[in-house]
Amino acid sequence: MTVPPKTEMLGIYPANYHEARDLFRQAAQDLGAHLENHVVLSGAEYGGDLTIDVAVVGVEDPTWSLVVSSGLHGVEGFFGSALQTAYLRQVQRQDVIDSKGQLVLIHAINPFGFFALRRVNEDNVDLNRNFLVTGETYSGSSQLYKDLNGFLNPASPPHRFDGYLVKALWNIGRFGYSKLKQIVAEGQYDYPKGIFFGGHKTAQSTAIIETHILRWARGRHVVHLDFHTGLGKRGKYKLLVPGKRSQTDLTYYSTFMGPEIEHLGSDRGIAYKTKGDFGQYVLSISKTTDYHFFFAEFGNVFRHSCSQGASYREPSILFQFAAQCPRARASRTT
Ligand SMILES: [Zn+2]
Repeated sequence: MTVPPKTEMLGIYPANYHEARDLFRQAAQDLGAHLENHVVLSGAEYGGDLTIDVAVVGVEDPTWSLVVSSGLHGVEGFFGSALQTAYLRQVQRQDVIDSKGQLVLIHAINPFGFFALRRVNEDNVDLNRNFLVTGETYSGSSQLYKDLNGFLNPASPPHRFDGYLVKALWNIGRFGYSKLKQIVAEGQYDYPKGIFFGGHKTAQSTAIIETHILRWARGRHVVHLDFHTGLGKRGKYKLLVPGKRSQTDLTYYSTFMGPEIEHLGSDRGIAYKTKGDFGQYVLSISKTTDYHFFFAEFGNVFRHSCSQGASYREPSILFQFAAQCPRARASRTT
């Protein structure tokens, strides 16, 4: 498969959620994919239905699946949706069928956030803290998060003269950046209006994914990429690996997919360990032992206009599309 010149990829970056969904559905239809849509919210204030759409193309009984999901963090879906639509336009259906596999593209897991330009869902829930595994409950938060609640979730927007920056620097000095990042981002279930709130129940989006993911991701070999934007250096990406993985696995991933692999829970780098993340959930319920899940995190791709010199060395066509310059509208995502 050859990578098309940039000019052929224009027109894939949507102006809003509804346009993104139209482009995705059209591309799926043109490819002859099987399409499903699952309603998350409905109403005139949303311009109609807000849905999770799924396009499946391949053989009936696949030996492998490539799953690509977008928009778990709402507004980050601008990027993931563009990738999915571009991929649908480029992939050859017969190639997938001939190799006895299937492609599963899950579009806009958090359609409300995509629609409203928010990272969280309609109830301020970070869906990547809402996928609990057996034995976990929607309660609790770390003592340090409780201690820092007033700083993390101020009642009014911080003013430049009220010492917020000083407090931020003091907290970084007190805990170290790595620890502070872990405290803040690991998820909490006590402050419904706070950041990284994991919810008090299974969200509608989560319930839809939990009901269907094993029906979609079939075959002995599954590779699942869940696309995000925000963390890391602009124009660079990391593949974040959740769950328990051996060093052998991590070395294999690096060999196969390049050096940009980072294990969640590592003290270094951009990652942090979380409760309720999508990847750990999928791995925990997967019946196949060959389910490989990655959060593909692109650093601030949406924050500014792209640098002209952005380049991606990876052979995968998916990553090549990342070099395209999206609109700056999603800059609030991080
Ligand atoms: Zn994200």
